[in-house]
This record gives sequence, structure tokens and C-alpha cells, in this order.
Amino acid sequence: MITIQGKGVSAGVAEGPLYFFQRAKTVLERYTVEDTAAEWERFKDAQQKCIDQLGELAEKAREEAGDDAAMLFETHQMMAEDLDFEEAIQALITGEANNAEAAVTDAAEQFAEMFASMDDDYMQARAADVRDVSGRILSILYGVVQGGIDSDVPVVLAADDLAPSETIQLDKTKILAFVTEGGSGSSHTAILARTMGIPAIVGLGDQIKPEFEGCTVMVDGSDGKVYVDPDEGTAARLRDKKRQQDEYKQMLEELKGKENVTLDGQPIRVFCNIGSPDDVQAVLSNDAGGVGLFRSEFLYLNCDDYPTEDYQFEAYRKVLSEMDGREVIIRTLDIGADKQIGYFDLPEEENPALGNRALRICLNRPEIFRTQLRALYRASAYGNLGIMFPMVTSVWDVREAKEMCEKVKAELRAEGIPYAENVQVGIMIETPAAAVISDRLAKEVDFFSCGTNDLTQYTLACDRQNNDLGRFFDPHHPAVLRLLKMVTDNAHKNGIWVGICGELGADLDLTETFLSIGIDELSVSPGSVLPLRKKIRETTVSGARDTILADLMG
Ligand code: PEP
Ligand code: MG
Repeated sequence: MITIQGKGVSAGVAEGPLYFFQRAKTVLERYTVEDTAAEWERFKDAQQKCIDQLGELAEKAREEAGDDAAMLFETHQMMAEDLDFEEAIQALITGEANNAEAAVTDAAEQFAEMFASMDDDYMQARAADVRDVSGRILSILYGVVQGGIDSDVPVVLAADDLAPSETIQLDKTKILAFVTEGGSGSSHTAILARTMGIPAIVGLGDQIKPEFEGCTVMVDGSDGKVYVDPDEGTAARLRDKKRQQDEYKQMLEELKGKENVTLDGQPIRVFCNIGSPDDVQAVLSNDAGGVGLFRSEFLYLNCDDYPTEDYQFEAYRKVLSEMDGREVIIRTLDIGADKQIGYFDLPEEENPALGNRALRICLNRPEIFRTQLRALYRASAYGNLGIMFPMVTSVWDVREAKEMCEKVKAELRAEGIPYAENVQVGIMIETPAAAVISDRLAKEVDFFSCGTNDLTQYTLACDRQNNDLGRFFDPHHPAVLRLLKMVTDNAHKNGIWVGICGELGADLDLTETFLSIGIDELSVSPGSVLPLRKKIRETTVSGARDTILADLMG
């Protein structure tokens, strides 16, 4: 047995014959062309075919791996028609009389090297994308067919590095796992492998040798190990691990469609946190009840300038329509502190977490707030919308925000633009001040959603960004849990519901506590929905409630 170590980027155990990816080989020929105009046309022709192929791949990716994967090919389409890239090729063909193949190769290398030399991991991984796009144009120029798997049985697929388009074109029923020499956790092959649930290990370098072709290998995507010709003990251990993983996955699958209710009949809603309209796919496939937190600031973070009302409206409408009547809570802009955006031109602050952030910016710069609220109310006509304000500390800031909502509704009415009348308006409880006056705040709004990430930071005076604080940043601290209990009691006394949308909501060690306190909704990342449902369905609250509450309050 030979054991080799790489970086596990998609968990899971697989066993099968090792197969090296067959790539159509081409040898670059360089020559001087006489008719540069005709050569340029030949390139333009190949470029157009490449764009068309990528469009088809985007559709295939959308069906097999969702919108994020499709977006990758749409990005490749943009790269293929990027003006800088095209101009570099044009200079080499029409300016220097190079043949199209040589011009594409040289221009692509220049761009790929530029990406590879950047500091940022994500940008470095884009070098592979440029090579992928240019490889496709070259294949078209050469008239060769892209590689694949010529095997009757499923295989563990080895490659130097797989381009995303190569990954998506492969017949997935033939692939047990990916093992590659190069690649990184943020490479798209890794992302696609995770989305499709195929184990993957990257960065194996020259440890993965051609003479292993055909050998039986076992792959453990969780610790990045590949075993070539595994001995009996290793094989038995990994098969056992795989069986447990399969059973766990299967059990989670079986939980789809089931209610989130405890053994003694207490229901709780399980919703999802998202950061982009593209995440809706994951919300639906994990069978969440709705969206409990859409962090709208990511729309702003992805733009180079203030996103327009129409741009935002389209994004919100997409989420609401795709959620098809299920509740969607969209949080208004929460920038400042750890989320800085250059075009906001915010002055530097000594203590940004305690500074001009979130609702404070919106109230100080009403034109920004108004644009977002108009987009939100316009989108409300397409689904079941709730709006919530982050970083509330007082009754007056909530009242001012609600007044702004009323103004926007009046504007839309006057303009004859439809909006829903039943939009819930709520607030995040993420400052100790808001928790302490939650009895008063509950009279102002339709719901509370507790942001335990910030509530922990502000209650314990512990910077959530500072990893060195270790055990001092303790979301299980009784001060945080007592505040949650107090907020829940105040919400219920005033007839409104309360949820948790901070990371703590997915902490299974506290599920029983949250049920005992009486939390109505837990909003968690899509991957946490089914494990949480499992935990809820195994819990009996009535027996434990008194002890838990006595421990907490005593
Ligand atoms: C929180 O503070 O718990 C929260 C959900 O908001 P964010 O993490 O975006 O600050
Ligand atoms: Mg927060």
C-alpha cells in the first residue's frame, strides 16, 4: 500500500480503479500569416463558437449543479469576449502576423501569469479559468474534440488539474472521486465537486504517478489521503467510514418533507441565511421553510458603485419569486465594521464595530435607504416579504426607519406602482441595548431576529473578528443566553415572534435550550437545515425545560 497526502476539498470516501484523464493533445505550430484579415476572421469564428459552447455548458451546469456552477461558464463567456484579451490577440495577429493559435496561446499565457502573480488566492485560481477558455478556443481552431473517460466502470479520476469546463462535461456516473496534482480549495473544480457531492483531493503534486493507472485506490476527501492498493485493514476502516457517511446522508435525505417538531410536539421553524439570489437553490434543495436572513449588503459589496433601485429590485424579486410564497426576510444594508465598501467613502474610525454602521448609515444617508426600501417594496408584490433593520439600539431609530417605509409606500402609491400591504417589519436584536429594551421595541415591530454573532460581541466586549480571543468569545455565556430568554419573553408578551439568525442557531448543543426558551425560528446556513431538523425531531422539551431554565436563570 502507498499512502499519499493532498488537500481534501470535498469530503467523502470512494474506492475504485485509478484512471488518468484523457486530454486531446495538440502541438502548437507557429507561422507567419500573409492574409492577417482572414486569420483574424478565423479567430473571430472560433471565438464565437467558444461562446456558444460555453452557453450550452452553462445550461448543463445549471441543471446538474445549480446557478453558481452555471455562473462560472457565464463568466468564461465574458472572458472569451473580454475586450483586453481580444485586443491582445488582435495585436498579435494583425500587428505581428502571428497565426491565430500562436496569438491565442501567447495572449492567454500573459493574462494567466498576471492572475497567477496576484496575492489573493481567489484571483490566482482564475489563471486556470483563462487557460480553460483559451484551451477551448485552441481546440476549436485545431478542430479536435475535448477529452473524457473511456471506461466501462466508474473510476477515481486523476488529472494534472481539471479545468471547470472539463469537469462539467464529464459523465458524473463514471466518477467516484477526483484526485489532482494541482488545484486549490477555491478552484472551481473543488467547488463543483462539493456541489455535486463527489469526494475530491487536490494538490497531490508528483506523488500521483502514471504507473498507478488501473490500481485500486481509496480516497478520503475529509483528510486528503489517497491509498494506492490499500491493505485490508485500511480498506475495512474506510469502507466502514463510507457506510456511516452514506447512512447519515441517506437519513438526512429521508428527513426532507418532514416537520420540524420535537418528540413532544413543539414546532419550530427552520429557515436559511443567504447572501445572494443564487443561494435560493440551496435553500430549496435542503427543504428549508423560508429565508430568515438575506444579507442584502452582499449586493452592495459585489458592485463598484451604489446598486440602482432597478438592480436591487431584480435581485429581491428573483428571491421572492423563486421562494414561491414562502417567507423571505431581507435585512436592509448592514455595512460598516467588518464589511467596508470603498464607494461609500466612510471616514476611518477608531472603533468601526461601535461606529457608523448598518441602520445608522441608512438613517444618516436617507437617499441610500430610500433606494433600497423602494426596491424592497416594489419586489414585495412578487412574494412573501419581511424587512428587517440591523444594529438597532433605540426606539427612535426604529420609528425613523418605519417612517421611511411609510414615505416610500406613499410614493409608490402615488406612482401607481404595486406593493404588498402585508410586509412584516422587524428588527435584529444584536445589541445589549436592544435586548434590554425589547419590551418597548416589541410594541413597534412585527418580529425580532436575534443576531447572536454581534450580540455576543457587544455583550461580552469581545471583537468577533479577533481569533486570538479564543475562549473569551463564548456565545454560550449565560449573559448571552439570558438576553435571548428575556427578548423571547418580551416578544411573546407582545404577541410577536422571535428567531435567531446568528451562527448560534445551528449549534446543536443549544437546540434544546432554544426550544426551552421558546424561540420560534432558527435561521441557519442551508447545509445545517437537515442536521438541525434531525436534532429537533429527537428532542423532548417538556422534560428538560424546567432544569434548563433553572440553570440559566438561577
Ligand atoms: C449577527 O450579528 O448575528 C448576524 C446574523 O448578522 P451578521 O453576522 O451579518 O453581522
Ligand atoms: Mg450582525
